[in-house]
Amino acid sequence: MNKFDKAYLKMALEWANLSYCKRKQVGALIVKDRMIISDGYNGTPSGFENCCEDEGGKTHWYVLHAEANAILKLASSTQSAKGATLYLTLSPCKECSKLILQAGISRLVYINEYSDDDGISFLRNHNIEIEQISDCELKK
Ligand SMILES: [Zn+2]
Repeated sequence: MNKFDKAYLKMALEWANLSYCKRKQVGALIVKDRMIISDGYNGTPSGFENCCEDEGGKTHWYVLHAEANAILKLASSTQSAKGATLYLTLSPCKECSKLILQAGISRLVYINEYSDDDGISFLRNHNIEIEQISDCELKK
């Protein structure tokens, strides 16, 4: 196992802790040429109230996923995600997998498996290199 992959995933876990969402906390880092070019965690858009769930505990539809936030952050920078590696604490959903592909990310490393694996299958079918490093492997 690549020691850098492990270190970046640990950082992604720290980023997940920054999320104010209660149901799920997800962290993302985009790394290119061993430099972090973007980061993100799930949350509401800028200027919104820092609350991800409604009274029933259901996540608001407008909450942005961690990887979407990290990819969107690049839109206002001079960096591009082309050929970059995306580190995620949770595998991407279908919606985000489209963004990952379109952003030109070529490799994905993640820790936990999202309940719906359509996103991962989609990326695999489009030749994105995928690697899972489990929580216990990370602690070794
Ligand atoms: Zn998503």
